[in-house]
Amino acid sequence: MRKNIVAGNWKMNTTLQEGLELAKGLDAALKGKAINCDVVIGTPFTHLASIAAAIDTNKIGVAAENCADKNSGAYTGEVSAAMVASTGAKYVILGHSERRAYYNETAEILKEKVLLALANGLTPIFCIGEVLEEREAGTHFEVVDAQIAGSLFDLSAEDFGKLVLAYEPVWAIGTGKTATADQAQEIHAHIRQTIAGKYGQTVADDCSILYGGSCNASNAKELFANPDVDGGLIGGASLAVDKFMPIIEAF
Ligand code: 13P
Repeated sequence: MRKNIVAGNWKMNTTLQEGLELAKGLDAALKGKAINCDVVIGTPFTHLASIAAAIDTNKIGVAAENCADKNSGAYTGEVSAAMVASTGAKYVILGHSERRAYYNETAEILKEKVLLALANGLTPIFCIGEVLEEREAGTHFEVVDAQIAGSLFDLSAEDFGKLVLAYEPVWAIGTGKTATADQAQEIHAHIRQTIAGKYGQTVADDCSILYGGSCNASNAKELFANPDVDGGLIGGASLAVDKFMPIIEAF
């Protein structure tokens, strides 16, 4: 089901105490407010259980920022999708460009992660997006198509329907250089068309496609007003309640 979603991605920020404070602060700020989107916070693994226990997870979904590509066993330091689900988290961010770039996550690895997330009842928030050189070369459409097809197109239509996608142009992440509303709409519409080409228009129309990359209180309204932009995946501006709330309220 297509929904408006504003999701935070805290990345490797906050101690457990700081994270708890932030999550509880957001929970309090949302109290009694009529909100027109689902709210999700992506937190470090260490925070998931405590935060899920401290807030109303029906009001704020909790997301992990990654999970392992293996089920269980001798993989020191890894955290499985089942472990994430057992904390009360409902989502997992997968394929973030930082994980692709710094931790060599390939399309094949991500395919496994998506399958394991789904098998454990988690909603993957699957990230795609081109780097600056690809945008400048005009290959951004093909790049996102290949990312989608490479990790997701072996899924059944039913399973694909459980995903949330996040388009995050790498050149816009943490740079203060947001995609324009037109650029976002253009590529989101293209992504939806690519999904329709594989799974049909209904599945495509039901898919929530979020925008990420320097999204903040001053540009969220314009970005979210686009027919194919169903919300945002927010990095820096999700780390303070007074910066995150106006983005949630942009719907
Ligand atoms: P910023 O909002 O800090 O640019 O980060 C975006 C992002 O990477 C969210 O996943």
